[in-house]
Amino acid sequence: MIGSPIWHPFTQHGLKEPIPQIVSAQGAILQTSDGKEVIDAISSWWVTTHGHTHPRIAAAIAEQAHKLDQIIFAGWTHEPAQMVADELCALMPDRLTRVFFSDSGSTSVEVALKMALGYWINTGEPRHRIVVMDNGYHGDTIGAMSVGARGVFNKAYQPLLFDVTTIPFPHRDGEQATFDALEAACRQGAAAFIVEPLVLGAGGMLMYTVETLAEMHRICAAHGTLFIADEVMTGWGRTGTLFACEQAGIAPDILCLSKGLTGGSIPLAVTMASEPVYQAHYGPDRSTMFFHSSSYTANPLACAAAAANLAIWREEPVLARIAELSMRQAGHLDDLADVAGVANPRQMGTITAFDVGEGGYLSDLAPTMLAMFRERGVLLRPLGNTVYVMPPYCITAEQLAQVYRVIEDVVQQLARG
Ligand SMILES: *Cc1c(COP(=O)(O)O)cnc(C)c1O
Repeated sequence: MIGSPIWHPFTQHGLKEPIPQIVSAQGAILQTSDGKEVIDAISSWWVTTHGHTHPRIAAAIAEQAHKLDQIIFAGWTHEPAQMVADELCALMPDRLTRVFFSDSGSTSVEVALKMALGYWINTGEPRHRIVVMDNGYHGDTIGAMSVGARGVFNKAYQPLLFDVTTIPFPHRDGEQATFDALEAACRQGAAAFIVEPLVLGAGGMLMYTVETLAEMHRICAAHGTLFIADEVMTGWGRTGTLFACEQAGIAPDILCLSKGLTGGSIPLAVTMASEPVYQAHYGPDRSTMFFHSSSYTANPLACAAAAANLAIWREEPVLARIAELSMRQAGHLDDLADVAGVANPRQMGTITAFDVGEGGYLSDLAPTMLAMFRERGVLLRPLGNTVYVMPPYCITAEQLAQVYRVIEDVVQQLARG
């Protein structure tokens, strides 16, 4: 009577929408159990960077699985974690000297917030106000929801979410309002500002300028407010550079990474911290240590996958692939801009987005489009009336062209009504 016992995320089972089964995946292509091919145009929810089942990552996981599967990470360590941490420190701005492992973007954010609060408590100035940007998204746990946009997704939990100061999104030519609000919050002694650099993902692929990012960082630094960069989505090449902060030439105090950290193969996250944040927790007194852990902290299989991902970045022309994909994306977006019904076309590196008609997250437009895309063999999952394309970097020119043919077809069908 009930079919599958699985309760899927962000799914209203009462609508009985089809849930296709994927049996295998390679590169940008997913294979369904009924023998169809689907182009993965959103990197399986923004995680897959180099492509599905990358042979080097798959081999690294398999090899590690025979050697060391799991080890408690409080008081113990292992080589894959050491390698990943050393290499992340070498890759990231010099300011980020410490690496704390966890398992998801949400937990990397929880860790970042706890580190920021710990920093202020342990340095004797108990600041605790967190500043956030309107339309931000940082995950679905209670702390991450607290610093994210409030809406239908978290209405039921609202009474439990902690209070934050929200500054407006820096719309083009409206940046000053954002700076003023941030400055005011910092003046009042905000503990930290958490933000997605350059692109607000789940908030609707909203993009702002490099100069704005740099200025927000400058304001925080001037007041000692810790700058937390949530690069869970923007990291690992999505915006055209390895990290989005790079483009603004800024080094955050705390950096959250997950999604593409293992190339999208297996869950892992890190929260990187500056030396002052680490030192605030360091000393002879156990009461100032950082009180956070999860059972699978720095799981060796996940770390082996991350090490393989880092090797791919080191040894393969990933940035050249990203540059080429970004260029192709620009060409397709340009063509699409002329199609009736396409509004606000925008791009940041490998990500393109545009809006169709009206509607918030719960409007029928998104599920309608999603179904139409699926019927046409493309995995795209619009955010409300925003359609975006965020493919794995291995997508071929022909596959990408097919994605845009399908988008154009769907937009035209919708326009005809
Ligand atoms: C996806 C995302 C998260 C949450 O990551 P999970 O691994 O889904 O918990 C946090 N921040 C940003 C910017 C994200 O895009």
